[in-house]
Amino acid sequence: MKNDLHICAPASAQINPLDSATLNDKKKHIMPITPRPDICFLKGEGHYLFDQNGKTYLDLVQGWAVNTLGHSPSVIQQALQAQSQQLLNPGPAFYNQPMLDLAQTLCQHSVFDQAFFANSGAEANEGAIKLARKWGQQHKQGAFKIITFNDGFHGRTLATMSATGKAAFAPLFEPKVSGFEKVPFNDLSATEQAIDNHTVAIMLELVQGEAGVIPANSAFIEGIAQLCEQHNLLLIIDEVQTGIARTGSLFAYQQYNLSPDIMTLGKGLGGGVPISALLVKQAVSCFDYGDQGGTFNGNPLMCAVANAVLNEVLAPHFISHVQEISLYFQQALSTLSETFDLGKVRGSGLLLALDCGSYSAPEIVGKARELGLLLNAPRENTLRFMPALTLKKTEVDKGVALLHNIFTSLAPIAAHR
Ligand code: PLP
Repeated sequence: MKNDLHICAPASAQINPLDSATLNDKKKHIMPITPRPDICFLKGEGHYLFDQNGKTYLDLVQGWAVNTLGHSPSVIQQALQAQSQQLLNPGPAFYNQPMLDLAQTLCQHSVFDQAFFANSGAEANEGAIKLARKWGQQHKQGAFKIITFNDGFHGRTLATMSATGKAAFAPLFEPKVSGFEKVPFNDLSATEQAIDNHTVAIMLELVQGEAGVIPANSAFIEGIAQLCEQHNLLLIIDEVQTGIARTGSLFAYQQYNLSPDIMTLGKGLGGGVPISALLVKQAVSCFDYGDQGGTFNGNPLMCAVANAVLNEVLAPHFISHVQEISLYFQQALSTLSETFDLGKVRGSGLLLALDCGSYSAPEIVGKARELGLLLNAPRENTLRFMPALTLKKTEVDKGVALLHNIFTSLAPIAAHR
């Protein structure tokens, strides 16, 4: 295949080689929990990654919607350096300055009053589930059941896998944590029918990311909010993937007429470092001492990074840039779709998907990687794009031109399917 594109490494990228024998020798000690290609990334800079052979990749996945500002941005380098010289971890049973600042910023820019910090999206969701159950014990005669949605994704701890609506999870690790009832997404009457005296909460993503970027429709969300009101249920919004401007507003719930009781954040909050958050309204904040905690929660090093990320995201024009570049990207994907008779372009902000008709999305991801472009295929025929929110037109043009080359080369194969 002809690759007209030359993805240049920024001048400052210095790569220390790692030979394939060393990689092969060392990789056998890594637990094989996912099929990994023989790539070991040695450096990242902005929208680019560099592997052990010095090959450059344009990264439109960014650690699965994590690196809000791209790879190793200077503001994160500075935050890590400054905080590491000051205080690493006094322990979770003390306040620290970055923790206090982060909680205040998140609450000031949302409908929530309090935050609990954790280390992963799953851990934040686990906290949300516990909190809802505790609230049910205190305020709803022990109600514990949480309605979640088919194809929704909430994490890989046992409880969050149990809450997840991914069909492939269903037979795994039985018996699951009970108390989750799954209904079809965007189906209000199925949701209503699932409510009974044991129901305490409804938990959902506003855009189902892992399912292939499937947005909740406004009427459904309005109906969900009414059901919560009517039946005294908590509304838990999982914004682990959609939060921190990913969908073109600081939080996705702000695009709906919605005031959730509980929200979880992860991924983009740390811009590449592990931190997540459980945010709650005062009336719902019912943990007693000892109910929730964790050695690393609210540690100043990670909180300082999250503060640096938020400082950038909340700066004037940052979010409007996400909206503008999103439209440009969507337009480019639509043109690609028309040219090759693909399918829908979905999503908002920089959480976008392209249905690729009869082409195999994993095959396209593999070919793109060979050519130095990183993409994701959440479904057999869907490509997902989760670039850094600092994306520029140059990167959109490069990525889409490369995709154009790939579809051109695959067209004859597709014609025989
Ligand atoms: N919730 C949503 C919506 C997610 O997309 C993910 C991860 O993809 C999670 C929760 C789990 O987050 P983590 O992998 O940080 O545990």
